[in-house]
Amino acid sequence: MISVAQHSPRAFADHLRAHGQRRAFAITDASGQLHVSDPALADLAAHLTGESPDYHGHEGVFFEVGADTGALFGAFVHDTHRGQGQGGLRFWPYPTLAAFLSDGLRLAQGMTRKNALAGLWWGGGKGLIARDPEMPFRDPGFRRALYREYAGFVTSLRGCYITAEDAGTGPADMAEVFAATRFVTCIPPALGGSGNPSPATARGVVCAMEGALEHLGRGTLAGKKIAMQGTGNVAAAMIGELLARAVAGVVASEINPERQAELLQRFAGAPVEIRLAAPGDDSILAEPCDILAPNALGGILNPSTIPKIQAPIVCGAANNQLLHEVRDAAALHARGIVYIPDFLCNRMGIVSCANEQYGYVQDDPAIMRHFGRTWENSVHVITRRTLELAAREGITTAAAAIRLADELARQEHPIWGHRGRAIIDSLVREGWQRGA
Ligand code: NAD
Repeated sequence: MISVAQHSPRAFADHLRAHGQRRAFAITDASGQLHVSDPALADLAAHLTGESPDYHGHEGVFFEVGADTGALFGAFVHDTHRGQGQGGLRFWPYPTLAAFLSDGLRLAQGMTRKNALAGLWWGGGKGLIARDPEMPFRDPGFRRALYREYAGFVTSLRGCYITAEDAGTGPADMAEVFAATRFVTCIPPALGGSGNPSPATARGVVCAMEGALEHLGRGTLAGKKIAMQGTGNVAAAMIGELLARAVAGVVASEINPERQAELLQRFAGAPVEIRLAAPGDDSILAEPCDILAPNALGGILNPSTIPKIQAPIVCGAANNQLLHEVRDAAALHARGIVYIPDFLCNRMGIVSCANEQYGYVQDDPAIMRHFGRTWENSVHVITRRTLELAAREGITTAAAAIRLADELARQEHPIWGHRGRAIIDSLVREGWQRGA
């Protein structure tokens, strides 16, 4: 038996190996029943169906222990009605197996929602590699072996999960993954990938800002003041988009002095102020402004920050901005702050690379329609629809976006139907867990 709450991912990997296994799964069958691959995983099953608030009937959660690296791999497949479960691969330290599971489950469900709201024919998934303190994780040779192993794991899942880049992984890592599986997107441009998605992400967030301003009857971005936390890749492109729309000014905070200097130079002469902040200094959130854009960290909207916010609109690129999905959405709502859910407005990162296999067109209509006002799934249209639903029903904007997303997520892929489920069922029937 393994204590999910107390044991580390490494201890779980060792536990599997001690039982002569390198693979395990937990799947939910069509009747909603959870099954694990081995009776020795009873604690895992109990955790998922009991204390975990994040399971939400995931179609499949798969684990593998890297043959040479000993790393614990996870593939979380939440919902594949709209298509294969897609979501990036995170290489991150997790103190406990419970933390590993919680991150993977929450992120995979988030991808189901993000993909559905974006009108993509993808389901939701997420990949994790648990980073162990003893791993030489910066060593190129180790990373190469690690990502090749992970790719083999993804290949074994036969396409129910499609991986991509995420926190802790970079283009070189994706090149290694691509060398050993076809089930990956967001690969480097030199291998046929779509390249840096940040400019598109920034533009998508700005479309959502415009939708929110219009909803509130506050006109356009011209003459508005925007405050933002973080001046990374997305934020820099966002500042450019905002200046092009004649905003009155941008005030941003940044913890990295080199980045601050670089951007001050880039935007010299423009109404852009960049303040150096110490890590943990979130005073930018209290800046009086028209829109606050969290562009750095997750969990930034929480009981200690929400009371300070001066902006009537919060709309930024950072993932998982609400520390607690329900509580913090309610706190923003109670203060009359219009929050644009991150999975609605930061979709363009995934949209940019979702259809790499179909090739590229200049000013690609499949991408550009997300920035317009006519396509039913554009950022602007979905923002307006979400805010109208929330206002009509007196619910939070997060609850409204989730309702719209969950409705879309139940639609089956027009060609392939609910094929991810069929893949998972066949993996189970064929004894996938014994195949490593
Ligand atoms: P990035 O790493 O380039 O930028 C983050 C910036 O924030 C860095 O310059 C960092 O120094 C700064 N920062 C970190 N903590 C800070 C703090 N407490 N106060 C002020 N500044 C701080 O990342 P990015 O690609 O620009 O992405 C930003 C966010 O948007 C992330 O949460 C990312 O997950 C999310 N996102 C990005 C994309 C994309 O296309 N890149 C797509 C979807 C979501």
